[in-house]
Amino acid sequence: MINLYDILKAANGQLFGEPKANLFTDFALDPQHVDNNTLFVAQRSDRGDTHQYIKEAIASGASGVLCTEPPDCDTDGVSVLMVRDTVDALLDWSHYTLGKLGVTTIAVAGSSGKSMALDAITRVLRTRYEVHRGNVDADGRLSVALALAKLTPTHDYVVLKLSSEHSGDMAQMVEAVQPRIVVLNHIDCVHPAAFEDCRQYINEQSVLVDYLSPGALAVFNYDDDKTRELASRARDGVQVKTIGIDRFGADVLAFNVKSGRERLGFDVRYAGERYVGRWSPVLGQHHLYGLLSALAVADFAEIAVDDALKALTDLEPLPGRMSPLKGENGMLLVDDSYRASYSSTKAALDWLNAINTDDTRTIFIMGDMDDVGENSRYGHRSIGQYAADIADIIITQGAEAALVGRAAIDVGVSARYVRPTYSARDTVETLRSFEPGENDVVLVKGGESARMETVVRSLLADDTDAEKLVRQEATSIETVAHTLRPSRVEVDATILAENVRIIKSLIGDSITLMAVVKADGYGHGAVMAARTALMNGADYLAVASMEEAMELRTAGIDAPVLVFSYAPAESVRQAVRQKITLSVYDLNQAQLYDRAARDISGKLAVHIKIDSGMGRLGFLSDEAVTVFRHFQALNHLEFEGIYTHFSDAEASPEYTEQQVETFQQVLRPLRAAGFSFKYIHAANSPGTLLSSDNHFNMVRPGLMLYGLQPSNAVPLPEGVRPLLTWKTTVLQVKTFPPGHPIGYGRTYYTRGEERIAILPVGYADGLRRSPQTWDYVLVHGQRAPLVGRVSMEKAAINVTDIAGVKAGDEVVLLGQQGDEHITAEMIADWLGTINYEVVTTILPRASRL
Ligand SMILES: *Cc1c(COP(=O)(O)O)cnc(C)c1O
Repeated sequence: MINLYDILKAANGQLFGEPKANLFTDFALDPQHVDNNTLFVAQRSDRGDTHQYIKEAIASGASGVLCTEPPDCDTDGVSVLMVRDTVDALLDWSHYTLGKLGVTTIAVAGSSGKSMALDAITRVLRTRYEVHRGNVDADGRLSVALALAKLTPTHDYVVLKLSSEHSGDMAQMVEAVQPRIVVLNHIDCVHPAAFEDCRQYINEQSVLVDYLSPGALAVFNYDDDKTRELASRARDGVQVKTIGIDRFGADVLAFNVKSGRERLGFDVRYAGERYVGRWSPVLGQHHLYGLLSALAVADFAEIAVDDALKALTDLEPLPGRMSPLKGENGMLLVDDSYRASYSSTKAALDWLNAINTDDTRTIFIMGDMDDVGENSRYGHRSIGQYAADIADIIITQGAEAALVGRAAIDVGVSARYVRPTYSARDTVETLRSFEPGENDVVLVKGGESARMETVVRSLLADDTDAEKLVRQEATSIETVAHTLRPSRVEVDATILAENVRIIKSLIGDSITLMAVVKADGYGHGAVMAARTALMNGADYLAVASMEEAMELRTAGIDAPVLVFSYAPAESVRQAVRQKITLSVYDLNQAQLYDRAARDISGKLAVHIKIDSGMGRLGFLSDEAVTVFRHFQALNHLEFEGIYTHFSDAEASPEYTEQQVETFQQVLRPLRAAGFSFKYIHAANSPGTLLSSDNHFNMVRPGLMLYGLQPSNAVPLPEGVRPLLTWKTTVLQVKTFPPGHPIGYGRTYYTRGEERIAILPVGYADGLRRSPQTWDYVLVHGQRAPLVGRVSMEKAAINVTDIAGVKAGDEVVLLGQQGDEHITAEMIADWLGTINYEVVTTILPRASRL
């Protein structure tokens, strides 16, 4: 229970207007989680400012608001309490409340395994005491108060997780909650980004130990070097207990550990006694430390070890932390999707290794990790090397996780058993292609933002098990840190997959779909686009150059790739070896290619390009027959295909028909002369949509795969939509007097008093400066016009008519926000160009997630 007057007193706050409710059942940080008796807490941090949501929170029924400045909305009927800093205020309240209720605090800290320890301790203590389990899915100083919201005077103990986000957090949290018992199971050098280095992070954890006074208990993991070292820092009079597995020296020692498919067995040695352990329904040795720390705490609280061991037999697996679930067709699905650090991923793989028997097939599904620190590339690759020896099949989801698979292939795993995907649906379908059943154990792991629980959800045998997943809903507040990324591009591969499927079903099974992924997949990411297209109906890829083709090969994509444009004869060796198809548009070039292929005794696949009226690359129709006679001598070329390209399919069906006719005039005599081609193709996106007469037996769309429209005259098929959002955040908001110039060259003067928001994005990031720029961007779901000149890395927008815009707010430059959207087509109109240029010149400059 939260008492308004406790906060007022503890934090030295000030009431704004008449208070109404004075008791609240919970805190809410997100207006979507507000209900009638909650206190909405507005906070300002480096991730943004949620004061802007006060109005929404009140509208959703919040009965109180804690904030730092007067709300700019009607607060009648709501208690509003203002403090200097809401997070500090809540820590003060925590301290006050714990003191008032006289409960004993147990603090669990460290890098991982906190929730399991917290659960085990709670369960053991509950055999004798009233215990408040303060478990919240949040980190940092705010999490303390959130965890105490439901504390009542009946409780003897409260068990809390303390995790620092910044240096100094721990000291403040410890001051506030004054723990009597602390548990530290694991310290990892992969720490939150705000820490300078490992040392600083370890120092942060050590505060917990330094603080303890005589009579307190400190529990350390003896097997973890960093926590064991901290044990020596405890003051005289502090009881120190160490826990360990199979390693003499620890006070509480587990041995005879048996990893089962759905539970863990172990015996315990403690204070000279042996206890025959029991099975606990947890998976993975790393979780055993949580159980052992509960045994250490039990003894301190005068609970017999046997009773404690018994209590641990009915622990329940935590959602998303090695939680065993029934998967479809009898497979065992182990959901470890809560978070993924390097060490927790290794621990999960160790379990997979431990339960692997001859008749088990192990499948490791891995999403991008969030918690791998600065060297994400190295972290992902190391996991791949580790998994290579353990998992029979590796399926990865996302661009960084793809490195896991790549590393596994590099150490010798066959590419057949390593499958990268970019969306949950493709992951699920890829898994199903291996026909998993009763002999399969599927481990699903990934960082918070990878949301791998969506994969687990689709694979459940029993839908009601969906309750056991982490993150049931998305939070509505976007927290975007912009220190490192002034703007970023988000791409939704699920939409690309859908687009490709729709297009494939339109053209039908008899026509091969060649997905064009040149110019980095029209700015969306070529590797992601290529893989997703291949998984959803495309069988051939096309790019502009050898360099682009090699990017796909380097990523491990082995589907056929056609290079549209120039490739030097020196690259033939590589093309032959990598099975890359080249375009032939000139006789002399064809002869050079042939010679180069002959030199390495290889055969080069080529597609002949015909200029049927585009007036660009290719053989003109009337020279074709003569030239072809010469081709017959070129034995080292395989003439796999022939194609032409439309110049005006988006605007002129008549001219396109003429081009098709010209192309036919080339094909007829060739067929008569005995030439036959596996692939004949002509249609780009508009050509594909215009008429099936243009399809021959292959089509080559690019633009429309990405949900971009060829022209007003050629609408997209139903359901095909864009997949890309380009975002930034507000850097600063200022109110200017009338007639104040904005930006370089003073091209804009404020007309009245105007509120101007500065954005950390400019022409160097792709926000075009001249001759025209964007008309507007989106903030709070509304249009904000750009004013003044765009600078190299900054721009200004007018937010006078949009209430409550603040630093940290999300800004959409391309894509949807609320009910408003800005499409590439709209931007093309503003800039006087086409959507093709918008996506291929602007997006490569913006960093992507
Ligand atoms: C780029 C390109 C395409 C794809 O065109 P879209 O209009 O983007 O569908 C097809 N063929 C050739 C030769 C191309 O260069």
